[in-house]
Amino acid sequence: MSFDVIVIGAGSAGITAAFHIAKAGNKVLLVDKAEEKEIGRGLGGGVVKIHAFSGAGFPRPQGDELVSYIETFNIYSPTAKTKKTVNYSSMIIDKYLMTQRLLGYAKEQGVTVLAGKELKLLNVQDDKVTGITTTDQQSFDAKLVIDASGVNSLARRTLPDSFKIEKEIDNKHIARGYLEMLPKVEDTNYLNSYLAVSDGYIWKTATEIGFGSLDHSIDLKARLHAFIDEHIHLKTDSSRSYYGTIPIRQNLYNMVGNGYLAVGDSACMISPIEGAGITTSMAGAKIAADVVNKCLSRNDLSENALWSFNLEYNKTQGSQLAYMDMLRRGVIGLSPDDIDFAFKQDVIMDKDVLDSITGDIANVSTMDKASRVFRGIRRPGILLRMENCMSKSKDLKNHYLNYPTNISGLDEWVKKLNTINNSFS
Ligand SMILES: Cc1cc2nc3c(=O)[nH]c(=O)nc-3n(C[C@H](O)[C@H](O)[C@H](O)COP(=O)(O)OP(=O)(O)OC[C@H]3O[C@@H](n4cnc5c(N)ncnc54)[C@H](O)[C@@H]3O)c2cc1C
Repeated sequence: MSFDVIVIGAGSAGITAAFHIAKAGNKVLLVDKAEEKEIGRGLGGGVVKIHAFSGAGFPRPQGDELVSYIETFNIYSPTAKTKKTVNYSSMIIDKYLMTQRLLGYAKEQGVTVLAGKELKLLNVQDDKVTGITTTDQQSFDAKLVIDASGVNSLARRTLPDSFKIEKEIDNKHIARGYLEMLPKVEDTNYLNSYLAVSDGYIWKTATEIGFGSLDHSIDLKARLHAFIDEHIHLKTDSSRSYYGTIPIRQNLYNMVGNGYLAVGDSACMISPIEGAGITTSMAGAKIAADVVNKCLSRNDLSENALWSFNLEYNKTQGSQLAYMDMLRRGVIGLSPDDIDFAFKQDVIMDKDVLDSITGDIANVSTMDKASRVFRGIRRPGILLRMENCMSKSKDLKNHYLNYPTNISGLDEWVKKLNTINNSFS
């Protein structure tokens, strides 16, 4: 069977892409290994920005799907003694109900959903992806395959060597996450994050508490419970728990090839401060769908034609998330004691935290700088580190804004990207 586009993975990224491409009148197949009624199943992990739905062209959640609103984001030091508080317009959604609702919209637009079918390999002919083969040996053709199959994407790993796309995500960029639900939904409206706990952070909302870390040697559950006992003192329902992985890095250097495009976790479109990818994967998929629709109207799904997705994405969300990633590295690299000091003395201020979660470049006035130096005088190393980090973050954002206009500039761009990234640790 032949389609204009095959989307692998019916997560937030895949459904958004499938919906918008079908809406433009194209023939779309959406494949997921889970049975249709199981798609989106899995506990927790439902913090989504308020603007996520309107930005991706969907109505907002209502009823049982909308669990609670989040108005403030409290970022605590690792000892939970000091915190920074910023406004945070988000909501907690029931991810299963959300996924099933969005799937319904996609079907209304004519998307064919092939559930309970697992991708085995991409079909490739003459250096071009031409379709997919599933594990039960069924084959489907398409002008384009969109890989929205998540962080462990098999599709990406089986791309031909001629594609200049990173097939493997280095383990050092894969955080493992573990969460436990609370016995009942609390009457609170905040997201708490406890920074730099064992190379990661702990988060808590009205519904869950979780721990994400890049240190693969840690027993996440034991460490989470030790932290709860020491600092938070609350009951959880450990019978409702969930393990998963999150790519904590800047997006893939290149997300397109002849007949292939990657979105969502598969392309590492994660907000690194919160380890959140629902909002960003939906936004990334909308950008992808707009580019794909143009390419389909010209009947050109070559790497060259699809390249404008790299450009559009990096000019907007990609550059912002890269900026945030560098800021994250700046704070996480401080010792717990230094974070306490920096938060308490306002060497790191509320607005720095806000910039780090919006990706906006901070404008620090001379006056502001001087007063920070004064407040941080006892530990000058912190200020030096954070200034260096700010400057590298800006360089990184600008570098993403100067993404090459075609693949011939990619190697040089990646080389400079690595230089910027490696110049700060
Ligand atoms: C513990 C934890 C908590 C989290 N909490 C949040 C949160 O609160 N807010 C937030 O924004 N993000 C959160 N995240 C991250 C978020 O879950 C992801 O960023 C987001 O789901 C990415 O969406 P996606 O569509 O790219 O991929 P996924 O949601 O992973 O969807 C991929 C889909 O592809 C299918 N698939 C995979 N392989 C195949 C195959 N070979 N063949 C066919 N189908 C396949 C899967 O069944 C799945 O349905 C959390 C992650 C973890 C681990």
